[in-house]
Amino acid sequence: IGQLYTPLNFFGTYYRLIQSNFIDMEQMFDLFKQEQNVKDAPDATDLKVTEGTVTFENVCFSYDPRQQALKNVSFTIPQGKTVALVGPSGGGKSTILRLLFRFYDVESGRILIDGQDIRQVKQESLRRNIGVVPQDTVLFNDTIFYNIHYGNVNANENEVYKAAKAAQIHDRILTFPDGYETRVGERGLRLSGGEKQRVAIARTMLKDPQIILLDEATSALDTTTERQIQHALTYITKDRTTLVIAHRLSTIVNADLILAVKDGRIVESGTHRELIENVDGVYYEMWQKQLAEDQKIEASKNNTDAE
Ligand code: ATP
Repeated sequence: IGQLYTPLNFFGTYYRLIQSNFIDMEQMFDLFKQEQNVKDAPDATDLKVTEGTVTFENVCFSYDPRQQALKNVSFTIPQGKTVALVGPSGGGKSTILRLLFRFYDVESGRILIDGQDIRQVKQESLRRNIGVVPQDTVLFNDTIFYNIHYGNVNANENEVYKAAKAAQIHDRILTFPDGYETRVGERGLRLSGGEKQRVAIARTMLKDPQIILLDEATSALDTTTERQIQHALTYITKDRTTLVIAHRLSTIVNADLILAVKDGRIVESGTHRELIENVDGVYYEMWQKQLAEDQKIEASKNNTDAE
């Protein structure tokens, strides 16, 4: 166990840093294969996704034996539905996503996809069926085309354009100096947070997984970008089983089920309509806070317009 907490080398440190930030995991697994904590069981089989139903059954997990990060977490996401995780910082939302991607194994309890315990399936098959749209996507120092195509290297050019269109990023790409051949990343054109998230959506669109993990952007986006992203997300999550860390009202209102996660436990669950009825609840308080913030932003916009 101790070994897990001691950075052995630069890659170890970098790996853990990336893990904690929940950035593009699939990409990272290609880069740091040797650093995986979890191993395939000797008799592991390929995951067979029939519906894409996800179930957490009494899941407990700790990063550090002295502090439990998740305590008896149970919920089900039926085929094609969207479950939103909300709650205070450090509550355990990202941990739930990381466990479903099998970054770590549960301490007790089980995570099932269509009835199969994810510890019994090959990791490659698990990750092939799960698309990740992180908050902050890492781009390769390569062309924008390459960065989208990465989602499915067997896709043809037209499929890449189609995915970019659906992700509401195609028109923007056409304004870049060399269109799809424009180099992006650290050494190329720097994309904004909203643009990067749309690249991640386009990639995921190409990958076409039945299950999607989404970590919404927390940073404030302008209204147009926000609308474009929302549009792209609605498109991509339609009919796919989706688990989303929600920071914005729009997602929350439309989710099939909302789970409020606090101190590693699910403290409330229900639809938006149900949860706002509970005026003593965590969700009600978050909702009121968000409304007040939105009103403030709206008021400051109107003031600027009036000047
Ligand atoms: P946020 O909204 O701020 O992203 P969260 O609800 O996603 O928070 P988690 O990141 O899941 O919360 O964290 C749950 C708990 O686990 C926190 O107490 C956090 O400090 C701890 N934790 C998270 N990642 C690690 C890690 N890699 N090593 C040790 N502890 C961790």
